[in-house]
Amino acid sequence: MSWIFSPTDNWNRSVLISRVMVIVLSVDVPEMRETRSYFCEFMEVIAKVSSRSFPSPPWPRRQRGLHLAPPFLLDDYIPQYQLISSRDAAKKRSQAYAHLRNCNLCPRLCGVNRYEKTGVCLIGAESVKVNVIAPHFGEEPCIQGHNGSGSVFFSGCNLRCVFCQNHDIAHQRNGFDLTPEELAEWYMKLQEVGKVHNINLVTAEHVVPQVVLSILHAKELGLNLPIIYNTSSFDSLDSIKLLHGLVDIYLPDFKVWSNNTSKRLLKADNYTETAMESIKAMHESVGDLCFTADGIAKKGVLLRHLVMPGLESEGEEIVRWLAENISKDMYIHIMEQYHPRAHVGKPKRRTKSDVVAPGGFPSPDDPDVQRVRYEDINRPANEDEVSSVQKAAQAAGLCRFVEPAAHGGFNI
Ligand code: SF4
Repeated sequence: MSWIFSPTDNWNRSVLISRVMVIVLSVDVPEMRETRSYFCEFMEVIAKVSSRSFPSPPWPRRQRGLHLAPPFLLDDYIPQYQLISSRDAAKKRSQAYAHLRNCNLCPRLCGVNRYEKTGVCLIGAESVKVNVIAPHFGEEPCIQGHNGSGSVFFSGCNLRCVFCQNHDIAHQRNGFDLTPEELAEWYMKLQEVGKVHNINLVTAEHVVPQVVLSILHAKELGLNLPIIYNTSSFDSLDSIKLLHGLVDIYLPDFKVWSNNTSKRLLKADNYTETAMESIKAMHESVGDLCFTADGIAKKGVLLRHLVMPGLESEGEEIVRWLAENISKDMYIHIMEQYHPRAHVGKPKRRTKSDVVAPGGFPSPDDPDVQRVRYEDINRPANEDEVSSVQKAAQAAGLCRFVEPAAHGGFNI
């Protein structure tokens, strides 16, 4: 047994001992029972000595980290829209049409009849604009699984984030027009041909009525996959109410905390207050994230926060608020992949007073020639910034995180 005691890393040694104990206790061959009992006693003594003399692991202990354990493990799952009665489905349809005639689906509250004109999001009523529909492998492992998440990337958006990470899709309205019925047929293709694990509606805040109609139509066509509503959290409560009973998983992104930041970077006055209300309503609708035994998420809220350079204190406020006001069992993805995009890092706009050299070109002496827009967020977030949000989340009592697999492989 000397090899058990030889490693210099004490933590590895205690882990090794406990693993050996688990193996011994799980073998039940009658002839070995006596040997096993002596061995167990011996290992218990070793374990007691180990726990006295070995220090704790060098990272903070968590309450629990397993997602494939009760109460988050489901035997089976039937998508919510399968359980909706035909009467409730008819009600949802008429509510969807009513919203399109007087649009209040997001806090912009345009109040326009989208059959006649468009509001801030620039999308009408009859159809939606879609950029990409495909199995997607860029989501969390429990969402994309082995076959991918059946993602529908909608063009247009009700926010105007200066750093938008999907700028070409959200701000430039590229793509093709689909009616709700055509959209439903694409969900079926994703299910039948793509064999995806879910239908993932990305940035659908401004087309919720059309999405509602498409889900109800897809139900009639035989769709049987969970529906994911992937949102920036700039949703009105009316919108979340309309989605209740049709969406299985909410993927809200809680972006920033202070009103000044949301005004400057998202071009929205009331983002934080709206995000708080809508995330609360989403959690009331579907609860904490639950999985089936294959490790695929089936129901609940998976919250994302993209750590922004220099704004880690806002991320800390967000995770503390979630722990205190929503649920300590909230499944969270603290994302570190921010990259300057869209308007960040572009040359500053010139004004009449700028110094101009002969010939009409900007003078190299002009300090603005060197400067770019949103310079403070014109870099990726660094490790310290990401880690401070992670630590704040753990200190607040959150314990269910999307993390890379310890073995470097696929973590579902
Ligand atoms: S969804 Fe579009 S039209 Fe409706 S309130 Fe929001 S921005 Fe305005």
